[in-house]
Amino acid sequence: MSEIRLGILGGGQLGSMLSVAAKKLNIKTIIYSNDQDAPAQNFCDEFIFGDYKDKNKINDFARKVSIVTYEFENIPYETLNEINKFKNVNPKPSINRLIQHRLAEKDFVNKLNIRTTRYVSIEKKSDLESLGDFLPGILKTTTMGYDGKGQYPIKSLNDLNGLNIDFSKEYILEKLVKLKKEISVIITRFGNNRYEIYEAIENIHENQILKKSKIPADITQKLIEQSREWSKQISEELKYIGTLCVEFFVDRNDNLYVNEIAPRVHNSGHLTINAFNVSQFENHIRAVCSLDQIPLKKLHNAEMINLIGNQITPYRQNINLKENEFFFDYLKKEIKDKRKMGHLTKIF
Ligand code: ADP
Ligand code: MG
Repeated sequence: MSEIRLGILGGGQLGSMLSVAAKKLNIKTIIYSNDQDAPAQNFCDEFIFGDYKDKNKINDFARKVSIVTYEFENIPYETLNEINKFKNVNPKPSINRLIQHRLAEKDFVNKLNIRTTRYVSIEKKSDLESLGDFLPGILKTTTMGYDGKGQYPIKSLNDLNGLNIDFSKEYILEKLVKLKKEISVIITRFGNNRYEIYEAIENIHENQILKKSKIPADITQKLIEQSREWSKQISEELKYIGTLCVEFFVDRNDNLYVNEIAPRVHNSGHLTINAFNVSQFENHIRAVCSLDQIPLKKLHNAEMINLIGNQITPYRQNINLKENEFFFDYLKKEIKDKRKMGHLTKIF
């Protein structure tokens, strides 16, 4: 078989971990990013810096690779679609377009009879004034948000006066769920009814940013099964190829809601590197490159802690890890507040 060259759009830590997994499978990675300092350039075989809308550069990139995937969802649809005309892009551009828009995403999930939070589209300030019923809630931009960016918690209509919201963007208002827990399910789909599904992961957020993930999740068997079924149903309906993550809320009455879908490998799945025989990254590559599917085996219970901002510093200075601890430094040039700099996984 001729050598596979995997093109990855996006150069963050997910791109780095995909590159490391690819290397293990003898697959070369070429990363394209609009960030000159993209950390994944330290891990891939070739790095191309350019705007996602730069047709010439994107063309040069696509010509070099056998197949294309992406590690973050905010890539312009037109770019993915253009590439897909002559190189296979997986997951499919239309899937990305659906999921990168919070309203379209929630409409899609509800059509499958799967529960989400209650939500309403907001196009102008006056749309908010009669929506007391959705409060307390969170106003979110429909596109481009991540790690809580572009989100405004609103307790009551009075809060609106104090907020300086840019209404040139589209929003969604979501009713706040009284959270008992958050969980995620990571699934790799290889083709019709062919999956590898990781067990539900329990996630703890601080200030809308993931802080900690662990397996096993402390939830009922019923929730374990329901979240697994819904994740399967979502990926089957999308005819998804690759690794996908479904984020869920569990409320105080043990009702399950889909929060959002990530059409890519996911932060909560970093622990799969150390806790399973095949990681979410390797599985993604196996699926998009049509390699063999290997039955998933759990090796350990595990816990992953995100190192945010200067929490990385002590680990960089003094790596005194225990035998069951694994430290990952994303090699980002600059330490910034609220920026994911690395993570620590412990296995048990
Ligand atoms: P992002 O794209 O930034 O991950 P999310 O919609 O997942 O956006 O929101 C980030 C976090 O904020 C969630 O994981 C959860 O902790 C909290 N959150 C968001 N929406 C709601 C909601 N409707 N009810 C309760 N908590 C929420
Ligand atoms: Mg989220």
